[in-house]
Amino acid sequence: MAATVIDGKAFAAKVRGQVAEHVARLKAEHGITPGLAVVLVGEDPASQVYVRNKGKQTVEVGMNSIEHKLEATTSQDDLLALIAKLNADPSVHGILCQLPVPDHIDGDTIINAIDPAKDVDGFHISNVGLLGTGQDAMVPCTPLGCLMMLRDHHGSLSGMNAVVIGRSNIVGKPMANLLLGDSCTVTIAHSRTADLPAVVRGADIVVAAVGRPQMVPGDWIKPGATVIDVGINRIDKPEGGTRLVGDVDYDSCAEVAGAITPVPGGVGPMTIACLLANTVTACCRANGLDAPQGLTA
Ligand code: NDP
Repeated sequence: MAATVIDGKAFAAKVRGQVAEHVARLKAEHGITPGLAVVLVGEDPASQVYVRNKGKQTVEVGMNSIEHKLEATTSQDDLLALIAKLNADPSVHGILCQLPVPDHIDGDTIINAIDPAKDVDGFHISNVGLLGTGQDAMVPCTPLGCLMMLRDHHGSLSGMNAVVIGRSNIVGKPMANLLLGDSCTVTIAHSRTADLPAVVRGADIVVAAVGRPQMVPGDWIKPGATVIDVGINRIDKPEGGTRLVGDVDYDSCAEVAGAITPVPGGVGPMTIACLLANTVTACCRANGLDAPQGLTA
């Protein structure tokens, strides 16, 4: 039986619609417009595309987009001074410094200089600690998007066996914490995991965040399991040119899984939608209002 395809593009549009409604309500009822500041240091082409897309979607949901594009030679002290200014600016509710930063700047120092309440990427050590201890945190956008899709598909995740392949700080670890928060039994697999196929075969939910094209074949998947593919890899096409693929082998996995996210059009679109959701959440909390339901972990 073919798997249900979880349409991340449509789901992301729905999340953006919910964000836009909350923004309109904040404006009408409280006279507040949420503001998202994005800082880009240097001219990395992929980062420029991400920042442009973030700015465009921020404006489309009715929020203020503040962009700071700095020279690649900007010093760490100057960048820290800008972050301090944005931290102190009450019209800025979310701050994001696009990674990677140039080599002469320490990314962790920059992330941890952002006010945790404005840390809409959820990478600040305080937010990592809050998430790890099951408290209200700003949650990293990609895993938050995966969680939203899983909740939408399954309702309750309680008691399900979840395997997260990958243990990075931006995807694997926060994903595992979120699944634990929803009462899954969670295994985190990585490059040293013994007998990965057997580990994955025990999973009702598989989240692949590895960065290896099509690494997970269908015969690792338990029949009926839900497969969330975080990977974004560009591979050569036999006829020339390139195409995007995930970390799972889509065709063989879709034959066995109960549900699966495609690449492109699965997890990818959810990441910016969740960034916007986090910005509204940060704005509400900064103004003593309840965070919007359904847009947080
Ligand atoms: P990292 O490179 O930081 O982490 C990869 C993880 O995969 C590591 O924990 C590594 O293990 C593990 N791994 C590598 N090889 C194997 C293997 N053979 N078997 C099992 N585990 C393995 O990657 P990220 O977490 O940053 O990203 C993962 C993927 O998600 C990438 O394709 C990236 O492009 C994509 N991505 C997509 C986003 C989106 O918006 N959709 C956002 C962020 C990332 P170890 O720790 O032992 O080395």
